Amino acid sequence: MSETKNAVWTMAEQFEGRLKGVSFELLSRGRKLADKLGVSLVSILIGDAVQDGDLEQLIKQGADQVYAVQDPKLAYFVCEPYAMVLEKLIKDFQPSIILAAATSSGRTLMPYTAIRTHTGLTADCTELDIEEGTGNLLQTRPAIGGNIMATIKTPDHRPQLATVRPKSSRPLSADSSRRGEIKHIPYDPSFAGKGVEIKGYRREEAGGVHLEEADVIVSGGKGLKKGENFSLIHKLAGTLGAAVGASRDAVDRAWISYPHQIGLSGKTVSPKVYIAVGISGAIQHLAGIKTSETIVSINIDPDANLHKLADLGIVGDAFQIIPELQKRLEARLGGKK
Ligand SMILES: Cc1cc2nc3c(=O)[nH]c(=O)nc-3n(C[C@H](O)[C@H](O)[C@H](O)COP(=O)(O)OP(=O)(O)OC[C@H]3O[C@@H](n4cnc5c(N)ncnc54)[C@H](O)[C@@H]3O)c2cc1C
Repeated sequence: MSETKNAVWTMAEQFEGRLKGVSFELLSRGRKLADKLGVSLVSILIGDAVQDGDLEQLIKQGADQVYAVQDPKLAYFVCEPYAMVLEKLIKDFQPSIILAAATSSGRTLMPYTAIRTHTGLTADCTELDIEEGTGNLLQTRPAIGGNIMATIKTPDHRPQLATVRPKSSRPLSADSSRRGEIKHIPYDPSFAGKGVEIKGYRREEAGGVHLEEADVIVSGGKGLKKGENFSLIHKLAGTLGAAVGASRDAVDRAWISYPHQIGLSGKTVSPKVYIAVGISGAIQHLAGIKTSETIVSINIDPDANLHKLADLGIVGDAFQIIPELQKRLEARLGGKK
């Protein structure tokens, strides 16, 4: 195994003691970079109550080492203490690259860390590579409204920080013969911060499924006419095992809560299937769904913008189409669900 200094790090994420899928997706990105550089790949876990058996899974799926800082005070993501832990780890172990997921916590933690450690950050990278000769990280992402792909380097500062969209890479298959080290690093309680005390945690009401991790999402927009009609979306999502999303207009009308909002000022999602019902396809909404594998648009207006981006555009009245779709799905799934 190669050196610990100058290693490539990937940020694992947990929720209530369970590792999230993005932790494994990032390892497949990090593995390629670490192999090219001939350095170790380290998975960093800041959180609480993740068992060693689960941390070992990070090794089976690509990590050489796991550095885990766990404490009940770190159970839920709060930027300040997480950033102080990460900054201390950076000072002690001096990685060359840190990759995080472009989730709400990754998008908050990494800019904060970049400022504190005086280095650069490229958000929402779609491709990562190593420059021949210099070993610099080549960070490629769409720029100028997605019209060009820009490749960004951080030649003078370390570590090089980048975020990567969830679901943009596949985890490596587990290899039970892989061996590595799990290092438990004690938490310094002074990092908890004077101003931050968590009294409780509001659980997202996203049908038990995190939107950013969901394989299937059914979203509703203003075309649903009123809040009660969101029951059609919830029912369809329940049948499909999908998460429920929404446009900002639906959220602004209080038909559904903000954690469901998708788009520029909401969440970015990358499901296998995104079903938009009564959503026009404003650029701010499209910004959050562009990396979905398959987009289905159900809209009464044949010229709706979302139909242009969609793989399947269904022109028609949602109040006829959704109940029909529901009926057929239930008939097809029969006793299977
Ligand atoms: C700074 C900024 C940030 C923003 N961030 C976001 C964001 O994060 N997410 C977001 O979504 N928006 C965002 N917006 C708002 C965005 O510009 C649009 O206003 C919003 O996306 C429109 O929501 P909608 O598609 O539900 O409504 P509309 O644009 O009103 O579309 C409703 C659609 O429903 C269709 N429809 C009507 N009746 C039916 C029917 N019976 N069956 C089927 N279809 C029907 C209509 O044809 C229409 O296309 C932002 C705007 C700004 C300025």
